[in-house]
Amino acid sequence: MNKLNKKIQLLIKQIIIFLCFITLVNPQLKASINKENQIYEIIEKFTKKSSKNWSEDKLLKTIRIPQTIILEADSRIYFSGCYRRGEKLKTIEGSSYCDSSHTIYLTKEDVEDFYKLSKSYGLIYLLGHEWSHALQHAFLSQLDYPARELQSDCMAGKQVSLFHSELNKSSILSLARLILHIGGPNHGEGSQRAFAFLTGAGIIDGNCEDESMKKLARNKKIAEKKIKKLMKDFDIKE
Ligand SMILES: [Zn+2]
Repeated sequence: MNKLNKKIQLLIKQIIIFLCFITLVNPQLKASINKENQIYEIIEKFTKKSSKNWSEDKLLKTIRIPQTIILEADSRIYFSGCYRRGEKLKTIEGSSYCDSSHTIYLTKEDVEDFYKLSKSYGLIYLLGHEWSHALQHAFLSQLDYPARELQSDCMAGKQVSLFHSELNKSSILSLARLILHIGGPNHGEGSQRAFAFLTGAGIIDGNCEDESMKKLARNKKIAEKKIKKLMKDFDIKE
């Protein structure tokens, strides 16, 4: 009898723990699954649309559509052909496009961070930037750095504007503000990157053509001045 009582007590305990899980942990789990679903929905929508455009282009349809792989930043890829990635044991480190395998690598960290900071705007910017590198490779672009990277930022801005039927200027400018922090020697300074992105998105007059990007790569000061003013006006309005 005593043994049976203990068994019943244990069963009650298990039921209580289960109920706690359902009411406390489960909503968080649900939210995280929802977020993941939203992220993959955006990635799939973007890839589907971009692949369709690729296969309908006269020149591009003769070249394989780039594959996209999403993985952890410390994943190891041997013989990818992209030697600049990692040192001895080719880790991904960050999202990138590998021309020799015609592959877009997206790290889960980047995907989640861009989505967390700027929702679909950030995610499409990340996807659009890498997809643009695939386009540059397909069209045998001769652009040097940082103009090459600035062109990808510009084309990513265009992708962001095409993806959203009603463009939210405030979301665009908030994303541009984030881009200000991701400058570097190969990519151009933050203000040049933000300038390129806003040009592609249609906020700044101009285009993403080679000559415009070369000019932007040479003129840090002009980009700095323009972005400073835009951000100041944006702050006043907000
Ligand atoms: Zn790039």
